[in-house]
Amino acid sequence: MNACAYIGLGANLGEARETVLAALAALQTTKGIAHCEHASLYASDPVEATGPVFVNTVARVETTLAPICLLDALQAIELQHGRARPYRNAPRTLDLDLLWYDGINLSTPRLILPHPRMHLRAFVLRPLKELAPDLQLQQGSLDSLLSACSEQKIWPLQDKATPTP
Ligand code: AMP
Repeated sequence: MNACAYIGLGANLGEARETVLAALAALQTTKGIAHCEHASLYASDPVEATGPVFVNTVARVETTLAPICLLDALQAIELQHGRARPYRNAPRTLDLDLLWYDGINLSTPRLILPHPRMHLRAFVLRPLKELAPDLQLQQGSLDSLLSACSEQKIWPLQDKATPTP
């Protein structure tokens, strides 16, 4: 039976928009991922990270992969795009986070579910709300969590993007 999972995508080095689009295409062709749709693309200022503006979105997948196998697949896609981890929160060509998997709670050395910081990040919550407006996290509704991080700048990615107030 398929599980439903949400994946956060972000990039802030090189051709970040193209990298995110390539990662979405890679998700669609990953064995064990039956269906993949994604929210709009956004630009956001780095949070707990350095470097240029990020390009972000969230994908919803239907998958037969177990959570850890899905994480393996995400890390393989990161590696295909030259992801290196020189230090914590370094600028990254591509970052894929497993945000939520069928609502399960998991805490292992390699994988924590739901993602432990997703409720604090506007660049996750805003695209996630497009796909799952009624999703409730343990910390609250997406609307209440978005209000709590309203100081984080995020804006729809357009040809000439400007931050919304
Ligand atoms: P980051 O450098 O922020 O992409 O963090 C990646 C590290 O976090 C990897 O070592 C993963 O094993 C670990 N990790 C724990 N939980 C998650 C999760 N839900 N999604 C992605 N990576 C996770």
